[in-house]
Amino acid sequence: MKKKQKTIALIAHDNKKADIVNWALKNKATLEKYELCGTGTTARLIAEATDLPVKRYLSGPLGGDQQIGAKVAEKKIDIVIFFWDPLSSQPHDPDVKALLRIAVVYDIPIATNRATADYVMHSTLLEN
Ligand code: PGA
Repeated sequence: MKKKQKTIALIAHDNKKADIVNWALKNKATLEKYELCGTGTTARLIAEATDLPVKRYLSGPLGGDQQIGAKVAEKKIDIVIFFWDPLSSQPHDPDVKALLRIAVVYDIPIATNRATADYVMHSTLLEN
């Protein structure tokens, strides 16, 4: 039986959007093997830059993080790449915390900086 393709969610706060786009371009060959989704603006920017299909949820401050958290709880998202900004306060901070929490509850990888995202992309577990 063919294995279900993993789904990777991509999220970046405003000060980290250039970073995640740059990271996605660098990792395009790997990312294109997976289903991709993300919060509104992040998903749009990555789709435009890489030409990969990225399903768009709402923008983070408008509920996108919560939508992604719900998909994690439904086991429809396998990995989260979340370039959050530790130097600015976010209006949707409770949603950010809720997403971090639910990823831990369901024990899925959640990379919250570029170094960890690189480790995830190079993990042999990615193919499982
Ligand atoms: P955005 O949301 O991709 O729509 O900007 C990200 C966030 O700020 O959580």
